[in-house]
Amino acid sequence: MAKAETPKAIRGTQDMLGEQVERFQHVVSTFDRVRRLYGFQRVEIPVFEATAVFARSLGETTDVVSKEMYTFEDRGGDSVTLRPEFTAGLCRAYLTEGWQQYAPLKLATHGPVFRYERPQKGRYRQFHQLDAEVIGAAEPQADVELLALADQLLYELGIADGVTLQLNTLGDAATRDAWRGALVAHFEKHRGELSEDSLARLERNPLRILDSKDPRDRPVADSAPGIDAHLTSEAGAFFEAVIKGLDAAGVAWTRNDRLVRGLDYYRHTAFEFVTDRLGAQGTVLAGGRYDGLIEALGGPHTPAVGWAAGIERLAMVIEAPEAEKLDIVVAVEDDRATARAFKDVACLRRSGLMVDIIATGSARKRYDKATKVPAKSILSYVVREGLILTGFHGDGETVDRAKRLLPIEAHPVA
Ligand code: ATP
Ligand code: MG
Repeated sequence: MAKAETPKAIRGTQDMLGEQVERFQHVVSTFDRVRRLYGFQRVEIPVFEATAVFARSLGETTDVVSKEMYTFEDRGGDSVTLRPEFTAGLCRAYLTEGWQQYAPLKLATHGPVFRYERPQKGRYRQFHQLDAEVIGAAEPQADVELLALADQLLYELGIADGVTLQLNTLGDAATRDAWRGALVAHFEKHRGELSEDSLARLERNPLRILDSKDPRDRPVADSAPGIDAHLTSEAGAFFEAVIKGLDAAGVAWTRNDRLVRGLDYYRHTAFEFVTDRLGAQGTVLAGGRYDGLIEALGGPHTPAVGWAAGIERLAMVIEAPEAEKLDIVVAVEDDRATARAFKDVACLRRSGLMVDIIATGSARKRYDKATKVPAKSILSYVVREGLILTGFHGDGETVDRAKRLLPIEAHPVA
């Protein structure tokens, strides 16, 4: 029979082991610690949803909906989509699970998301996000708190110095309409200088031209009118309150009046935390206020604000965390001691010690193998004159603890 061919991993997915996992876990556990400090509760939602959840809430004209979603018909003929982000699914749950009764809700979650993109460094088809949202809060304090959470997360990950918070406002609906008009007039004047993609955006979603990564668009985008001249007094006051709150909380920021968010329903606050260390994939965390989204899903008007961060991108910029060491590695140097050793190991593990055991392969080489395992101490088992003897080596505190748990140093061979 011909040798079976090993199926390949799907392009843009990752398999992680060793340091890569330690980095990933460090990002996740730091997030979990910091979100508790801010009173954000953990939630879980499905990895897939009815396609309409994303199509309606993200807006048909966004890159994500128009070309990046993993959408398929299931066996029952329903169109389902692997989540490309968390916000839409959380808002769907807010409505269908009756979470409105708990508003304002401060939510945190993390997990895999899926986008059909061209894979490259820091850009995958299955990647992972941290996500934080405040649903049902209209006040600028919610924006400030959410930004402070992001800022402290980056600080505790040790990357606050290399990352800048870029802040903008997209105003309210009236502001945005006026600004949109001014932008369209500007881009129309410079039609000939725009990329094909941006010409299409001009018809459908002109704000997105400001965000273009195509170098041909940059001069026209950079000379486009800013939003400030069009801000209504309410929108201006909202932005002012966010800025004051950030300053009071000691969160550093810079204004980027070119910053827009990909999704159609963003209002007021929009922001990105950007590092210069990841090239074109420099945005590690991004979000904003999306006051219109829940209405687009058929719910009542519900103001909300949130952000998502790419776990892989954060994991790439942090310092490698110290690898976790076992407390004890056990070397069984004589097979007659194996049963005893396993009994002791069970006792140590039940007492909360991290223990591994080497009891296979050549008995003579087991101690040597144990010395190569990252562990604070070694516990060895040998047999002398019919007695199983234990020997401890390494970190004093760990050894003392283990000795207290295993007080008898010699057992007769059974
Ligand atoms: P980009 O401009 O890099 O495509 P985006 O605006 O599409 O980002 P968001 O939808 O705001 O990204 O997602 C939030 C975060 O998720 C991003 O800031 C980034 O850190 C991360 N991210 C987005 N797409 C990918 C991807 N394909 N692979 C890895 N991380 C990603
Ligand atoms: Mg994208």
